[in-house]
Parts: sequence; structure tokens; C-alpha cells
Amino acid sequence: MRRSVVVMLATAALGTVLVAGAQKQKAKSSSDYGLAGIPGGKTRVVDLSYAINDKLPAWPGDARTFEAKVNATPEKDGYFTRSFWMLEHYGTHMDAPAHFPGGKETLDQLPVQHLFGPAVVIDVREEAARDADYRLTAVRVEKWEALHGRVPSGAIVVLRTGWSARWPDQSSYRNMDAQGVMHFPGYSVPAARLLMSRGAVGLGIDTLSIDYGPSKEFEVHRVDLPAGLYNLENLAHTDQLPEAGAFLIAAPIKLEGGSGGAVRVFAILPQPR
Ligand SMILES: [Zn+2]
Repeated sequence: MRRSVVVMLATAALGTVLVAGAQKQKAKSSSDYGLAGIPGGKTRVVDLSYAINDKLPAWPGDARTFEAKVNATPEKDGYFTRSFWMLEHYGTHMDAPAHFPGGKETLDQLPVQHLFGPAVVIDVREEAARDADYRLTAVRVEKWEALHGRVPSGAIVVLRTGWSARWPDQSSYRNMDAQGVMHFPGYSVPAARLLMSRGAVGLGIDTLSIDYGPSKEFEVHRVDLPAGLYNLENLAHTDQLPEAGAFLIAAPIKLEGGSGGAVRVFAILPQPR
């Protein structure tokens, strides 16, 4: 009897704590991304990664991209397993700083804090529709800031060019001319430098490369990777993101010594107020 009273009191006290906790959480909802609302569907998550198979648009020259082999089947072995081989830079992937000279961290060495950050989505679909060789300018970044405030420190930038509408058609995605030069939009060095000065930790894009198609020197890679940033390339479904307010999780395969690798990117959308 006495024990059940204690339990009742404890339960009541816990209830008070939970109610207080809920009220506290409500009060800070504008800065809260509502992770707890994900399982029940209250908070929306967008998957920004493409599924991996052997038919994805690949960087020219990479004849072999992905291979999967069945090793065991339920019929023969009682369970199902495969082995696979793939390029580090294929499909939706992350470039580690070590991908270019001067860059230090390999994929497994990136600070985990950098894999989480507010999304800065810069929409250049109009510009890219007019000019396939469009490069994001610093002025365009400043225009984003005039609308949404300063790019926050720790931001993961997503350049939305509209190129994902061409996925998975390799020919139109690469958009190669008769001379074998590709044409798709990217970042410019001044824009990358401005974003870096704001404290961005990653530069993402919905094309094959953060450097525009005709680039031979990979100028932007040579600027941001040595500074410790990473790149996200071939991002999917960026059309579902608001220009500001989403929160990104970029979780790469933890490949020891990797120059890059497959990455699962999730965007957690802001909750309606
Ligand atoms: Zn890459």
C-alpha cells in the first residue's frame, strides 16, 4: 500500500516535470528543429540522396562506377548478402578536404559537428536556365543575405540550379558539347570565399561538381577543401527545401583514408509556427 502511494507520488511528480518540459520546449519552438516530431510525421524530413545503382550519371572517364554481386541468397544459403564496389565520387557524395592538394582531413576525420548545420539554399534556377555555364556570384550571396539575414556560421550551403530535373539522364546532366566540354552551373571563387568568410562548413550542389562544367582547374575545390570545408555533389530533391530555415544532416560513409564517398543527406524542415 505504502509503496503504491510512493509510486503515485513519483508518477505525479514526473508528470509535472514532463508538463514543465513540454512548456519549456514550446517556448523555444522557433529555434527548435523538432527532431522529436520526426517519427510521428509532425516534422518533415527530405532525403537529399539518390539511391545507388550502376546507371547513375558519372564523371567522364570513369568506365567502371558501381558493381554489386550477390553472395548469398535465401534459397541457397538461408539469408541474403551482397558485396559491392564503387567509386568514391559517384552518385550523391561528399568530397573530403583531402580530395585536393592542401586539404587535410580524409572522410573519416571530418569533425562530426560539421556534419550538422543550418541549410542556406541559394536558388539560381532562373540564371542557370538562361546560361548553363552560370557561376554563383558574391552579389547573389549578398542578395540571399538581404532577404534572409547573414549566412550563419556553421552553415551548409546548397546551390539549387535545377539540374536535378535532368537526373538520371547522363547525356543532358553532363550536357557535353562537340568538343567534349561539359556545361552545367557551379560556384565562383569569390562566392565561395564570401561563404567561407561567413563560416560555412560545406558547399553543396545538384550537379556533378561545385565547379562549373567547363572548369579545368577546379578552382573552387582548390579554395574550399584546403580550408577544411567539404563538398556535397549530385544532391537530390533540393526543390523541396525553403531558402532558409531547414537544418541539414550530412552523414558520409566512414571510409578510413577516403578522399570522398557516398553520403546520406537529410534536410529537416522548419515546423510551421
Ligand atoms: Zn566529388
